[in-house]
Amino acid sequence: MAPREHIVLVGPPGAGKGTQSEKLLKLGFSHFSTGDALRKEMATGSDFGKQVAEIINDGNFVDDDTMLEIIKRNVEWEKEAYIFDGYPRNLAQAEKFHNVLMKGREYKVLWLDVPEAVLLDRLQARRICSKCRAVFNTESLPSRKGCLCDREPCGAELSHREDDREEVILKRFRIFQDVSLPMKAFFKEKGCLLEFDASLGIDEVSENIVKKLAY
Ligand SMILES: [Zn+2]
Repeated sequence: MAPREHIVLVGPPGAGKGTQSEKLLKLGFSHFSTGDALRKEMATGSDFGKQVAEIINDGNFVDDDTMLEIIKRNVEWEKEAYIFDGYPRNLAQAEKFHNVLMKGREYKVLWLDVPEAVLLDRLQARRICSKCRAVFNTESLPSRKGCLCDREPCGAELSHREDDREEVILKRFRIFQDVSLPMKAFFKEKGCLLEFDASLGIDEVSENIVKKLAY
């Protein structure tokens, strides 16, 4: 069945957003990348594109209103059901997302919940191939070759990702709690929120998502 509504994927780092996003793509959703939209806008050479390029080239971040405008110009509503991942990121963006961008459109927010302790265990167990960048997990997705990559013909050594150090993980988690968590009550009030226990296995989470979306 084809997707009928747009999706916003939200969860703390390590909640499995990337994996779930890949699974949703197979159901017929398109991934909306704010980075791609930004680059596309600058490449048009329009006045607005030039303004955006100026902001970026000065080393500044694009503000919420400009970002919204960029997204509006680059979505193809008539053709696609989108997955938004990494946007909106805070309450102010969520309000504009709902009131402006999604006005008159159907969407659901898939909120991946993971307790801090589970997240830490999971991130600590993550291993990445130093050569082909394949991702493993000593608990849930071990390499068949132990500490070497089992992709043929790679076989390179697996390493603990640099930013997986405990304090960095905790910092990213707390930034998420501070910046993004306030969106949860907002989306709930709007009737768009679907919550998932993302401490379950990847496939179980994915099945729950499909069930709730009823595709
Ligand atoms: Zn490899």
